[in-house]
Amino acid sequence: MITLALSKGRIFEETLPLLAAAGVEVTEDPDRSRKLILATTHPEVRVVLVRASDVPTYVQYGGADLGVTGLDVLLEHGNQGLYQPLDLRIAACRLSVAVRADYDYASAVKQGSRIKVATKYVGLAREFFAGKGVHVDLIKLYGSMELAPLTGLADAIVDLVSTGNTLKANDLVEVERIMDISARLVVNQAALKIKQAPIRRLIDAFAAVTAERFAAAS
Ligand code: AMP
Repeated sequence: MITLALSKGRIFEETLPLLAAAGVEVTEDPDRSRKLILATTHPEVRVVLVRASDVPTYVQYGGADLGVTGLDVLLEHGNQGLYQPLDLRIAACRLSVAVRADYDYASAVKQGSRIKVATKYVGLAREFFAGKGVHVDLIKLYGSMELAPLTGLADAIVDLVSTGNTLKANDLVEVERIMDISARLVVNQAALKIKQAPIRRLIDAFAAVTAERFAAAS
């Protein structure tokens, strides 16, 4: 049995066509059922639904053989024990710094002020601001980061931006792009050795669709 860990939402939706290319279809709709283990049309492949930030943990410790996870989650988790064969180019977005439209970020940074930054990505934010020599107090949040500068909890946030609509709706502006983010396929290293042929087949099918899409887009 091959177990693939996915999170509900964008990653799940955008992984379905990749699975289809490998001849695998998920037979249950996670929005209609409360099941956490989903069967597929392939008797030897199943999907487990986990929280996005838990995907690397499941794969690292063998609760799943493979998983699809955002680069943001992967970098924040660390990729010990994980083989990362593919950038799937799905769930694309960017990790950025945003502030209230009336906050002078450039001056605060230039003057060497200490700024308060709220984020779910404490590790990535610390590394980014340390690299710029900016002093920051990091405040860990688990959601709705956009609220932090609006309530005075923080001067800035580090969050994922896709269309920019969420920032705009909350009168925030993007002031720095930290990195481009997309979803990656991660594989448990031991599983890759033990179940080499079926896992390789999945990796190869995913790689073929990804390459095809990239060729079509460029
Ligand atoms: P947007 O309004 O399209 O810029 O999307 C921003 C909101 O969606 C923020 O709350 C982000 O945390 C979240 N978001 C954007 N892209 C992603 C992604 N690829 N994965 C997870 N969350 C995302």
